[in-house]
Amino acid sequence: MDIKIVKTTTPKEHPESSALGFGKFFTDHMFVMDYSREKGWYDARIVPFGNVELHPASTVLHYGSEIFEGLKAYRRADGTVQMFRPIENIRRMNRSAERLCLPQIDEDVAMEILKTFVAFEQDWTPSAPGTSLYLRPFMFGNDETLGVHAVHNARFMIIASPVGSYYKEGINPVKIMIEADDVRAVRGGTGYAKCGGNYAASNRAGERAEQQGYSQVLWLDGVERKYIEEVGAMNVMFKINGEIITPALTGSILPGITRMSCIEVLKKEGYNVSERLLSIDELEKAMEDGTLEEAWGCGTAAVVSPIGELRYKDKIFTVNNGEIGEVTQHLYDTLTGIQWGKIEDSFGWTCPLK
Ligand SMILES: *Cc1c(COP(=O)(O)O)cnc(C)c1O
Repeated sequence: MDIKIVKTTTPKEHPESSALGFGKFFTDHMFVMDYSREKGWYDARIVPFGNVELHPASTVLHYGSEIFEGLKAYRRADGTVQMFRPIENIRRMNRSAERLCLPQIDEDVAMEILKTFVAFEQDWTPSAPGTSLYLRPFMFGNDETLGVHAVHNARFMIIASPVGSYYKEGINPVKIMIEADDVRAVRGGTGYAKCGGNYAASNRAGERAEQQGYSQVLWLDGVERKYIEEVGAMNVMFKINGEIITPALTGSILPGITRMSCIEVLKKEGYNVSERLLSIDELEKAMEDGTLEEAWGCGTAAVVSPIGELRYKDKIFTVNNGEIGEVTQHLYDTLTGIQWGKIEDSFGWTCPLK
């Protein structure tokens, strides 16, 4: 793979770690590569970070052909930088691409691109506790015509953003609203693909929940509005009567890499973990009779996010007295320990840049 490099002549100041937040600052460079049906992928390049020029008829602006990934690079105590299970993000991106008729990128090629780009920008990986370099690979359809058809021209890019600790003031359980009207995805649709359109369609419910003081919505399935799916941009897990339950991947749920990692950690340690259908009735009953012990969301940004309150229609339930539960805390400590290289990675999940 030949990657052309154009270095910036105006490098930026690195922000203070206390100012980072999420996705507000970007590194000096970005990766760009174009695709056409005739040529395949061509013109791979690392260029100064900057605006993208698009034809006004570009597919992505009209028909939403866009997919993305989200993963992080972490600075270890010894100063080196590592990623967490990047091959899983590459595989998921190709599955998303298949669903949206966007082109595939060979796994080895994608890994080489990611490592080369992150190594090039690695000085931007902050070192304060809880901080990391968030990586955002994305791909979009870029045909310069209004005709509707599968994509013939596309662009793949990676941008990187130093991000702050998700939990600056300690891990605070969040309040979640169970959404009874809007749905995020249906089987046969794009729920399992990480595509921008899924987010566009979920903003309305998210906005309504926020206005009522809730941080995210918990989605129910799109057909019967009966089965729990996931929260906002995270997968969801419950501990009911000793059983750890997460919704099965039925096609409308995003297969999270944090979800998969939580399941693997818990199974290895002998916990009783089920991937199955969980109905709102079963959850409501568990909340009423006190057998719901813990609930948490899981995703790359927060790792785990304990749920302290759940609202369904007019009923409000407090989970674990609004405190983080034992299993939630244990998953947080284990995954963040592996990600920042503080505990031994017995799974082989971490990936150095060389
Ligand atoms: C990205 C995402 C997740 C979490 O996936 P991770 O790989 O764990 O970060 C969950 N749900 C949705 C809708 C997502 O977009």
